Amino acid sequence: MIQQIYDGRAFINGQRVAARDEATFDCISPVDGRLLTTVSRCQSTDIDTAVVAARAAFDDQRWRGMAPATRKRIMIKFADQLIAHADELALMETLDMGKPIQYARSVDVNSAANCLRWYGEALDKIYDEIAPTPQTALALIQREPVGVVGIIVPWNYPMIMAAWKIAPALAVGNSVVLKPSEKSPLTALRLAELALDAGIPEGVFNVVPGFGPEAGSPLALHMDVDCIAFTGSTRVGKQIHVMAGQSNLKRAWTELGGKSPNIVFADCPNLDKAVQTAVGSIFFNQGESCNAPSRLYVEASIHDQFLEKVLALVPNYRPANPLVGSTVMGAIVDQTQMQSVLRHIEGGRSEGAALLCGGSQALAQSGGCYVEPTVFAGVTDAMAIAREEIFGPVLSVLSFNDTAEVVQRANQSVYGLQAAVWTRDLNKALGVARALRAGTVHVNQYDEDDITVPFGGFKQSGVGRDKSLHAFDKYTETKTTWIRIDSPV
Ligand code: NAD
Repeated sequence: MIQQIYDGRAFINGQRVAARDEATFDCISPVDGRLLTTVSRCQSTDIDTAVVAARAAFDDQRWRGMAPATRKRIMIKFADQLIAHADELALMETLDMGKPIQYARSVDVNSAANCLRWYGEALDKIYDEIAPTPQTALALIQREPVGVVGIIVPWNYPMIMAAWKIAPALAVGNSVVLKPSEKSPLTALRLAELALDAGIPEGVFNVVPGFGPEAGSPLALHMDVDCIAFTGSTRVGKQIHVMAGQSNLKRAWTELGGKSPNIVFADCPNLDKAVQTAVGSIFFNQGESCNAPSRLYVEASIHDQFLEKVLALVPNYRPANPLVGSTVMGAIVDQTQMQSVLRHIEGGRSEGAALLCGGSQALAQSGGCYVEPTVFAGVTDAMAIAREEIFGPVLSVLSFNDTAEVVQRANQSVYGLQAAVWTRDLNKALGVARALRAGTVHVNQYDEDDITVPFGGFKQSGVGRDKSLHAFDKYTETKTTWIRIDSPV
């Protein structure tokens, strides 16, 4: 039975261990409500044990002391391990958080493996600097690993979010203590075993499952953690910065929420592609994506035509059992999140938006958590469904009349993660892209994604960037060494 297959115990110092007080919590599948396993409910004593192990591994240099070429080989082997266990990991991810298994396999496992491989390959291609000082001295400017890195991640892409942080952090020689979301802890625990199998030494990569206030806060407050890297909500992200300040002023990096505007001008080069992308991007991963384009601004002259095309595609996203290979829309991660999405939908209705399709729970008889793909039109910027991150399959459609107006309205958000503009006018595309306050702006597409480009937001979407070589900045300190030169010639 699955319950006996999945091991929910923490992973500390190279071993599976129960929480110190043996506490556990139930891991329930949103696919059908079944109990998958019980998981260690780590608390501050367990966090402390993991940090002590990580510190010892850092101090004795068992990992950072290895030649870069050796670390590279091990990181790449770690990536290979994910691919070798792809089916197992994909099934675990789908059962744990409800996403369609076809995407768990083709997107989540592959992206996480690619990320580990990319940082592994990058690590021995980074050179340090020598400053252009006078000849009487030499100044070496070198990057050093920051030390013990605490990592806290959400549940929407459990493996990918973890990989975006553990890969650059480990590549440069840090030790890591990872706290996965209590809603999706299983793959992170398995990754730690695969890392050990690949040759990452004991104590270098530890995983401590548990709840935010009980396991996450002690990690963010820990006096011997040098850096905390967080992905999650803006509400908790703000607390992470406070906790860093209240403790040892650890470096704090936060990747937070979004309410991304998708702006379609009447001169959009390919209306059908824009419709497919608008619909596909909001409903991918059940709408549980930080960068989902959840505010769709359509120029008034094409609004009705565009909306008609949107509604024609929505039935393709009917929720179904995510374990079935053809399913494109799976389950919402748990009952709490499903109820939150349904409350937002109810709020949209009561504020006067027009509910054009969806709006209800689906497949209730399955025992799982499913919500119909939902489209609201007649939305105004003041409505909560246009301002708040819903993190579910809900699209808000708004209309606009001119360029300056839509830019101002698109920017009127506490968030600034991503945005898109659709137009065949190059001047308009570049002008709008420049004026939008977002970490990433897409022009005539929303799908491009690559490990080589940074990911992160402006404003309350967070501080710092995941992915690309920029991520190394988060996990390294810059050190200068001055050397006096008394020249004999
Ligand atoms: P969340 O903030 O509730 O939880 C995220 C993590 O923080 C979890 O592991 C949780 O246990 C932990 N946590 C909760 N309270 C804590 C506390 N007091 N102290 C320390 N840790 C605590 O977010 P969520 O619901 O898991 O994830 C959804 C959010 O994540 C959305 O807002 C989404 O936009 C965001 N997200 C952002 C990105 C990005 O790259 N910008 C990517 C994915 C998700």
